[in-house]
Amino acid sequence: MSDLYARHKAVLPDWLALYYQDPLEITHGEGRHVWDADGNKYLDFFGGILTTMTAHALPEVTKAVSEQAGRIIHSSTLYLNRPMVELAERIAQLSGIPDARVFFTTSGTEANDTALLLATAHRRSNQILAMRNSYHGRSFSAVGITGNKGWSPTSLSPLQTLYVHGGVRTRGPYAGLSDAGFIAACVEDLRDLLGHVRAPAALIAEPVQGVGGFTIPPDGLYAAFREVLDEHGILWISDEVQTGWGRTGEHFWGWQAHDAAGPPDMLTFAKGIGNGMSIGGVVARAEIMNCLDSNSISTFGGSPVTMAAGLANLSYLLEHDLQGNARRVGGLLIERLRAIAEQVDGVREVRGRGLMIGVELVKPGTGEAHPEGAAAVLEAAREEGLLIGKGGGHDTSVLRIAPPLSLTVAEAEEGAAILDRALRCTR
Ligand code: PLP
Repeated sequence: MSDLYARHKAVLPDWLALYYQDPLEITHGEGRHVWDADGNKYLDFFGGILTTMTAHALPEVTKAVSEQAGRIIHSSTLYLNRPMVELAERIAQLSGIPDARVFFTTSGTEANDTALLLATAHRRSNQILAMRNSYHGRSFSAVGITGNKGWSPTSLSPLQTLYVHGGVRTRGPYAGLSDAGFIAACVEDLRDLLGHVRAPAALIAEPVQGVGGFTIPPDGLYAAFREVLDEHGILWISDEVQTGWGRTGEHFWGWQAHDAAGPPDMLTFAKGIGNGMSIGGVVARAEIMNCLDSNSISTFGGSPVTMAAGLANLSYLLEHDLQGNARRVGGLLIERLRAIAEQVDGVREVRGRGLMIGVELVKPGTGEAHPEGAAAVLEAAREEGLLIGKGGGHDTSVLRIAPPLSLTVAEAEEGAAILDRALRCTR
């Protein structure tokens, strides 16, 4: 056990999740690579934790941050803040939400909390519809709408949450159905549920479930849900904390895979926009955003340094078409991983969109979930200089691959070759 790990255990909570039997201390990064305290170099196939969206130590972001920090780090939320207004303008325009207003927070959790505050105030209801197998953050209200008990430590949330089918496709009553059959079954479940309850405020859903093992619903599920929600005036919140900014390749936002539904009433974002700087936020139609009749601020939400990082990072992403890169390189990586999966036992599915790729492992022969296998693959890949993630809670059998969106074809090949060996040596 390293000295730092011993000190960590002595002073930090036991429930703070760490990867690896001998946890890593990352000291620096560049491009798609990071280095540990012993000088070992790793190809980062998890992009921090989907936070390093463009690249580690991107000079454009570093320059914007240091220039802004040299001018002023924080003035006050009570004064005008130019970088905040500029980033809000760009996000409002990109969001697809008409008459959009943007509120900045410092995390995805706080963004979802704010969306819940707005939805419950607007609809005067504390009932929330959430998806089974979802994860939305760690605040008291966010854990109350998280349908993944491995990440939801209490059932005492003040919200009344009703869990909807649609989050899991490889297990449960609707496993094995065609896309159309799955959508029809989930819609029927939603209709049936709404016949039994009063008036939920909103449905919150991740377009691709992140912590839940990169689980992808069929395109059109949310368009079908939207029809039902509209009949009841229920709002739709798309949690884009993992799926935003072009990560899924085909689309800038995850909700766009369900385009027939039009934009959601609110979307929440965080993770990649700051390239590691703490930016989160909510975009909502003005009518919803402005429904609160008391003051509300976030002291550090919209802080000039983080906003400068967000602006530089977003500009780089758009100017270099990293969404297109995610589509192209992600497509190649998915193909390569599927070919590998055919050669080894125990991979149930390689699924993905762009550079958000899940590899679901099962125990060879039995088809049962295989969390120990996933943990072993993580360790074996690390030994060879590759960092990947895995699902949390229910879906600890899923390897999660989400590199920075600037990943090159050669790096994709290198990472796939390491995974090939890691998957074989853990059988
Ligand atoms: N929503 C989703 C979909 C997430 O994946 C996460 C974090 O992993 C959150 C919300 C919470 O974000 P944060 O950890 O920044 O509070």
